Amino acid sequence: MEQYYMVIDVAKCQDCNNCFMGCMDEHEMNEWPGYTGAMQRGHRWMNIERRERGTYPRNDINYRPTPCMHCENAPCVAKGNGAISKREDGIVLIDPAKAAGKKELVDTCPYGVIYWNEEQNVAQKCTMCAHLLDDESWTPKMPRCAHNCGSFVYEFFKTTPEAMAKKVAEEGLEVLKPELGTKPHVYYKNLYRFAKNYVSAAVLVKGDCVEGAKVVLKAAGKEVASAETNFFGEFKFDALENGEYTVEIDAAGKTYSATALVDDKSLDLGYIQL
Ligand code: SF4
Ligand code: SF4
Ligand code: SF4
Repeated sequence: MEQYYMVIDVAKCQDCNNCFMGCMDEHEMNEWPGYTGAMQRGHRWMNIERRERGTYPRNDINYRPTPCMHCENAPCVAKGNGAISKREDGIVLIDPAKAAGKKELVDTCPYGVIYWNEEQNVAQKCTMCAHLLDDESWTPKMPRCAHNCGSFVYEFFKTTPEAMAKKVAEEGLEVLKPELGTKPHVYYKNLYRFAKNYVSAAVLVKGDCVEGAKVVLKAAGKEVASAETNFFGEFKFDALENGEYTVEIDAAGKTYSATALVDDKSLDLGYIQL
């Protein structure tokens, strides 16, 4: 049976928050009977997480839109005592009546996306805009957050789990906290910008940027990547796991070698004078 899936491209997000505004507009003042009560002001069912990597001037800032993951094996459903359920189309919903007064439901989500609405005394979260998806007149068939994004960050579609597995493999899609086995229906592209790091630098000879210098990255003595410096003399090896690396540079016979330790942080080696 076909189910709903969302794919979010971290590399395209600009942190404009239009998606969050769309979610707020849809839910903050509105109740959707059968789906959810109104969202409490200040809550972010669509939260934009931020992560800065490296150091100036070769730093980058990345944004990761984070709604409910609509997990296949949802811990919130397993621990929710019937207050949270998964529909056949993959959408996980909190029953407002059954969740009333149950603040402990907030702790059932390992992704921290269930909010406690103090005003209504109820646990709430992103509904994948199920009330819109169920409405035949709503087109295109996508949630408000995805609808509001002008940067093409979101893909939203309905497909079979088999076809989704194929897409995941072909496009190298990832999920948050895969080790939990929750099998989210929200996937990410370019998640390395949040989960992994880079080594970068700029190469100079006699004070001038060197374009086309050969740079090799090694781990445990073996080459794992290579690059050439750009017009500004810069290079960057990204999506690196933690570990010790050696950077070897050859700029028309002028050579350089250094060890770089990537330890949950990106590393800029600065300006390398040859
Ligand atoms: Fe990012 Fe798009 Fe949301 Fe803007 S609307 S914050 S670009 S996902
Ligand atoms: Fe439940 Fe959290 Fe998974 Fe959403 S992300 S389905 S709230 S466990
Ligand atoms: Fe909000 Fe709907 Fe997007 Fe969920 S899918 S974050 S409820 S706009």
